[in-house]
Parts: sequence; structure tokens; C-alpha cells
Amino acid sequence: MTTVLSDAAKDALRVDNAHLIGGEWVPARSGETIEVINPATGETLAQVPRGTAEDVDDAVRAATAAFPAWRDTSATARAELIMKWVRLIQEHETELDRLESQDVGRPHWGPIAPIRILTFIAGQADKVLGTSMPTHSPDVIGLTLREPYGVVGSVIPWNAPAAMFSNDVGAAIAAGNTIVIKPAEDAPLAPLALAKLAMEAGIPAGVVNVVTGYGPEAGAAIPAHPGVHRMSFTGSPQTGQAVMEACAKNLTPLHLELGGKSPQVVFDDADLDAAIPAIVAGITLNTGQVCAAGSRVVVDRSVHQEVVRRLAERMRQVKVGPWHQPVQMGPLINAKQHDRVMGYVRLGQEEGAELVLGGGVPSGEEFERGYFVEATLFDQVRPDMRIAQEEIFGPVLAVIPFDGETEALEVANGTEYGLVASVWTRDVGRAVRMSRGIQAGQVAVNAALGPGVIGAPFGGYKRSGFGRTMSADAVKEYTRVKAVSLRGTAL
Ligand code: NAP
Ligand code: MG
Repeated sequence: MTTVLSDAAKDALRVDNAHLIGGEWVPARSGETIEVINPATGETLAQVPRGTAEDVDDAVRAATAAFPAWRDTSATARAELIMKWVRLIQEHETELDRLESQDVGRPHWGPIAPIRILTFIAGQADKVLGTSMPTHSPDVIGLTLREPYGVVGSVIPWNAPAAMFSNDVGAAIAAGNTIVIKPAEDAPLAPLALAKLAMEAGIPAGVVNVVTGYGPEAGAAIPAHPGVHRMSFTGSPQTGQAVMEACAKNLTPLHLELGGKSPQVVFDDADLDAAIPAIVAGITLNTGQVCAAGSRVVVDRSVHQEVVRRLAERMRQVKVGPWHQPVQMGPLINAKQHDRVMGYVRLGQEEGAELVLGGGVPSGEEFERGYFVEATLFDQVRPDMRIAQEEIFGPVLAVIPFDGETEALEVANGTEYGLVASVWTRDVGRAVRMSRGIQAGQVAVNAALGPGVIGAPFGGYKRSGFGRTMSADAVKEYTRVKAVSLRGTAL
């Protein structure tokens, strides 16, 4: 397999040093650029504009100008355009997958997410329904309309850029909004490619605007802009707070998706043949850089030793390497993330956890220039240790033994986060109790990372954030309700 894109794919998917404002591919106002790096090799993949508040202002103006016509385009026509976009993505699926792999450093994940996300969203566009209400008098009709906000702002992270872009852009425009979105400096290429295909599909100029740039420059300018009427942010709690503060100044509503420290709760009656591979896949997928990664194994003490032994055996088989080789795990995204993960590995040992496996950097020539780490397993982790509390965003699994269901629930709920959780048991009563008791936006029983439900709402409890994406409500969340009363005249 080649590590570079074909010329045809470059023509279809790549733009050199330009972002998308009002249907035009333009450089940053400042003329400055950012280098986009392949994290497996350190090579420069592309230059993108270093957008700032000026570029965001241009984009918000373009999105504002495009809004009335897009709002008044029928929902059927909006859905058709999104489906045209999906067909173009399908035509370019292999190359898009490769582009994101290069940019993020991940091996092939299976069918690319934008196709199923946007297909689902297109189906929701014409199902945004209002209600009718009873009235005090027969000459009055009461109803509600769901109307788009106007310009939506979005800032997305680097770990799954094509999926995040599709989620935010798809739902916002399906509801009749226009959008200004900033991808992460580390992985902007798939979002730019998707935007290029959106233009080709005939989505009108100014409906989708992409400003590339650094978080504190281009990113911060989006929630601060008074022309943005609804905000979406996915990333760290710290940046989420800054975005929310900026939104507070303009009273802009928002939703936040801020990661997690998700538990895999393994009871003594669990089917370990199913649980072990799912748990290992859940923490090594995308090198653990997944907001929903199950990073804590909360395990019944009576099966604890067997679980640790089998986890270690399975994790030892995880092949690490550049994305285009037959591996399960690529590098981390950048040097900062590498330092962060290695810092947590040191911290875990200092805190007294037992390092069972990994904890180092793989050796060999192919690892020299990339940000590689080994799949890492800690045992004897106490619930109050920082490696059990803080999101590492790397392939580091912490095993915490428990005695009894009450303690299992306490440990599972004992972090500031609450994004997803898994429960492994054959006991239906226990599955019901845990599903109700766990404080998280999604609970999966006998599955990790969600058992493939279509349209399951996704979002957090506690410091994992608020608001739900991916569901039938995702499109509705980009609308606001207007109550209309119609008084007729008597015959
Ligand atoms: P981050 O700072 O939250 O970055 C996420 C996005 O926010 C990026 O597009 C970033 O831009 C942008 N941003 C940064 N500062 C901003 C600001 N002041 N205003 C508006 N936007 C801003 O996260 P990170 O530094 O990349 O990663 C740090 C940690 O966050 C990770 O280790 C992980 O624990 C967590 N994280 C969680 C998720 C998730 O899916 N929930 C995703 C990524 C990271 P630039 O990166 O381009 O500067
Ligand atoms: Mg990159």
C-alpha cells in the first residue's frame, strides 16, 4: 500500500494552502500558514492557512449572507443535497480514509464514518416536526415551529476529524443553519476534503465555511463572534470552559463534548472471551485517543487475576506501526500528546500502580521519527490515583479491582467524567441495575464502544459535557422553538 495520495485523489480532495469562505478557497488574511504533519513519519503533508479573527469574521459574514436562502430551501431539497454529498464521499471513500489516516496516524478503521453519519442525518432533515396545542377558543390554532438558529459555530479536535466534521456540519445544515467550523491544526485535511466534496455536491456557497488555524486564534474567535448564534465544541474540558465563557458574553447557547474516563465493569459471570478482545480494542483503537475509550477496567476481585493475565496476553499481540502497514495501533498525534502519555506512565508508577505491560516506546527504525508508544497495562490501580481519574488519551489501561456490586458502581461513577460505560455480566438483573445506576450518557451491556446501535444519542454526564449528537435529536438541537397562535375570523 502506498503512503501517498494519487494525483487524482489530490485533485479531488486536496487544496493547497486555502480554506473555504463563502464558497471561495482563499489563503489566510495574514498570509501565514501552518504545516500539517504526518505523525508516523514527521513528514510535512500540506500547508493550511493560519486563520485568525479576521478570517472568522469573513466566514461569519458569508454564513450570515447565505442563511436566509438556505433556511428557505425545502427540507427535502436540503436532504437531497446532503445525500449527493454522501455519494461523492462514497466515490472517494478509499482516498478519504487514507487522507485521514495520514493526518491522524491511524490504521484503517473500517467503513469511514461520514457516510453513515450523513446518511442518517439526511433522513432527519425532513422530520423536524413541531406540535399543535389545544386552545381556549375554537377560532384559535396553536402550533410550534422549529426554526434554525442562523450561523452555527463549531470547533472540533484532531482524533476523529471526518466523523466530527460530518456530525456538526451535517446536523447544523440539515436543520437549515449555515456553519463556520474550525478543524484542529493537527488534522485539518479530511475536513477540508469533505468541504470540497460538499461544494461539488451543490451545497450553496457560504452554507459550509471552514477556517483553519490555531485554537487560541481562529478557534477562540468563533464563540466570541456576536454573529454566531449556536455553538458546538468537542475537545478538552479546559478549552470547553473557555468556549463556554466566550459564549456567555454573547448569551450563545452551546453543547460541549469533553471526553471521559470510561469504565469497563467486569463481573465474575462475564463472558471473558467476548470482553477481553473488546476491552483491548477499545483502548488501542486510534492509540487510545478516543473520547469514549474504556480506559478503566473495574473488575470483580474473584476474576481479577485471570482478567489481568488475559488482557496482558491480548495487548501483547497489538501490533504498533505506521498506518499503512498491517498494524492495529499507529502513533499518537503529536509530541505534546506523546509527552503527556509518557508522563502518565511515569506518574502511575510513582503512585504505586503495578506496570504489567508496555509503558515504553517501541524500538526500531520505523518508530524513530513518529510519536509511537506501547500499549500499556497497569494493575492494582486505586480509584483515587490520578491515572484512574484523569483522561490520558493514550493506550493506557488501568485495572481497579472491586468487591461487590455496590463498590463496582461507586468506582464506575467515581470520576468527574460520565461519557460512556460498559458492563460485562450474564445476569440480567444486574445489567438493569447497573444501566440505571451508572452516570454516563451511554451504557453498553456486553459490548465496548457501543454495540452498533444506529442513531443512539451521544454525549456526556458531569464534566463530559452536555447536549446530544448522532441521534434523531441531533438535528432538532440545531433548531429553536417558536410558538405561533393563529386567530381566525368568525364566518
Ligand atoms: P483542545 O485544546 O481542547 O483542542 C480541541 C480543539 O479546540 C482544537 O481545534 C483546538 O485548536 C481548539 N482550541 C484550542 N484552544 C482554543 C480556544 N482557546 N478557543 C477555542 N478553540 C480552541 O485539546 P488538545 O490540546 O488538542 O488535547 C488535549 C487533551 O484534550 C487530550 O489529551 C484529551 O484528553 C482531550 N481531548 C478530548 C477530545 C474529545 O474527543 N473529547 C478530543 C481531543 C482532545 P488547535 O488544536 O488547532 O490549536
Ligand atoms: Mg497531522
